[in-house]
Amino acid sequence: MQEDSPVQNENTPDTGAERPTSTGRRNRLIVLGAAALVALGLGGVAVATTGSDRPAPAVVSLEAQNRAEAASRADRAARESDAPASPSASPTPSPSAVSASPTPTRTATAKPKPKKTTRPTPAWVDPMPGAAVTSCYGQRWGTLHAGIDLALPSGTPIHAAASGTVVQAGDAADGYGNSVFVDHGNGYLTHYAHQSRIAVTVGQKVKAGQVIGYEGATGDATGPHLHFEVHQGMWNQIDPAPFMRARGVDLGC
Ligand SMILES: [Zn+2]
Repeated sequence: MQEDSPVQNENTPDTGAERPTSTGRRNRLIVLGAAALVALGLGGVAVATTGSDRPAPAVVSLEAQNRAEAASRADRAARESDAPASPSASPTPSPSAVSASPTPTRTATAKPKPKKTTRPTPAWVDPMPGAAVTSCYGQRWGTLHAGIDLALPSGTPIHAAASGTVVQAGDAADGYGNSVFVDHGNGYLTHYAHQSRIAVTVGQKVKAGQVIGYEGATGDATGPHLHFEVHQGMWNQIDPAPFMRARGVDLGC
């Protein structure tokens, strides 16, 4: 801007001598600018605009601008045509790079998951899962069958239906054979009869699902089975089926 002031051009020899040079330089700059436009696209437009303060160069700059615009269009088109190629080329390593970084994250998050899947033992469990029900609670042959008979091969482990304390373990009277009583501390006891072998002792604390003995046919039993009773207070037998169902265990009766 200072170059264009006439005062400065006349008074200052340097700028006066420089004047034609500056115009020539400007033209050269415009040419350079045009070349830059071709090379750089829109970036050169600013150079051409700043150089076009005279009518003649303005025409040149217009031509240059047109050429630049054409060049930039071509450049843009080239870039756009390149665009699908370069993203497709870069995504190829990038998904693997992306998948490579999430993989440790996933395995890192997957590792604690098995720990989470170790669910806490439910309060009440099936004393002999998978067993066939051979007799439910109710009247049978003129007397009350006061428990549920669950049959599996002899020696099948019997599990405590819930946590509690063993209050009786041994050969019980009245045809029960080897039986175990577990007091659950809430007014209810469970009774496991006809065992071939008892695995707990009186006073022992047991957890839900803990093996308390093994199925057998001791006492009055026609074949190996677990005779399972629920007592609401010692020797007050209730139907185990609705009691256990209310606690999430279906015994099949
Ligand atoms: Zn029975």
